[in-house]
Amino acid sequence: MHKIQMADLFGQYQRIKGEVDEEMQEVITNTSFINGPAVKAFRKELGEFNQVNHVITCGNGTDALQLALMALDCQPGDEIILPVFTYVATAEVIALLKLTPVFVDVCPDRFTLDLEQVKARVTSKTRAIVPVHLFGQCAEMEALLAIAEKNNLKIVEDAAQSLGAQYTFSNGHTQYSGTIGDLGTTSFFPSKNLGCFGDGGAIFTNHEALGEMAWLMANHGQKVKYQHEVIGCNSRLDTLQAAVLRVKLKYLKEYEAARRSLADFYDAELAGLDGLITPKRFSDTTHVFHQYTLKVEERRDELKTYLAEAGIPAMVYYPFPLHLQKAYAQREFPVGSFPVAEQLCKEVLSLPMHTEMKEEQREYIVRKVKEFFK
Ligand SMILES: *Cc1c(COP(=O)(O)O)cnc(C)c1O
Repeated sequence: MHKIQMADLFGQYQRIKGEVDEEMQEVITNTSFINGPAVKAFRKELGEFNQVNHVITCGNGTDALQLALMALDCQPGDEIILPVFTYVATAEVIALLKLTPVFVDVCPDRFTLDLEQVKARVTSKTRAIVPVHLFGQCAEMEALLAIAEKNNLKIVEDAAQSLGAQYTFSNGHTQYSGTIGDLGTTSFFPSKNLGCFGDGGAIFTNHEALGEMAWLMANHGQKVKYQHEVIGCNSRLDTLQAAVLRVKLKYLKEYEAARRSLADFYDAELAGLDGLITPKRFSDTTHVFHQYTLKVEERRDELKTYLAEAGIPAMVYYPFPLHLQKAYAQREFPVGSFPVAEQLCKEVLSLPMHTEMKEEQREYIVRKVKEFFK
């Protein structure tokens, strides 16, 4: 049996090697390395996929979040509401722009923003909410949009883990994650659902002016070379990465189906084990399984070690909530302030999840997990 990996990037490359190599070679031959034709084509194709009017590519998913907040003209002191259980990037850009991160707890089964806490933490200084569609499932967007509308707030969706996930409103209308708020962002980090061969990211919006501003800001604030209209930065998607992404985008639905089929298998095989809870699904959102995340009562670390010794990597996303990270600690939030997130950090364990899992590998994984709980 081949070695089991958390994400099998090489296996995925091998299946599309011919196409990818050819597209990359073309970029090299044309030497159009920055904002070349493949970038333009990819922006258009991703917009068609996601059913959104404007796609602004940039250097990575963290920059995408920063650029989205910059495009909204957020000012120092503005309060931005975000979940305390997320990847650090979400809080980092808020702090870097001298905005004030306002942490709220998450729902225990959905891992996304707790709506009651969001409402409770809105003040006259609140400018925006940044829902994170964690692990591949959408936050409760309909309710969040209502809160935003009532309080005149903007929404920037962090869709780094949820590209392709669809949210269904109560009237039956569906929309892709990242295209529902004022702006949405995603990442093409290699292990993300649509990963390139390095760093990459994008911003989505249906607001033309916001889209133009984000594009300007990602390109030194210039539309015309050497004419700088606003203060920007340098954050671009390499043409080589765009060439890779154009090929992989064609397979994204297939990749999503492979992930879901592995998740269905895990669900069926691991249901009902005492002390282990499989991921909950919700009727208003599809799940694209960036991660397949279990909750393990009490024996999480023991299970992780047991699996590691059996050659199965499993990862803890995330071991600490943001308010307990040194860089983001705030005096008013000691241990115990966000009990759900704190508990999740002790219980979550993500199993190997990728598009290349072999039958014998997945059988072996569930056998070992079951063995542990015997
Ligand atoms: C990966 C990730 C990011 C950052 O993306 P990079 O491309 O690595 O900068 C932001 N938010 C979340 C939730 C992520 O998972």
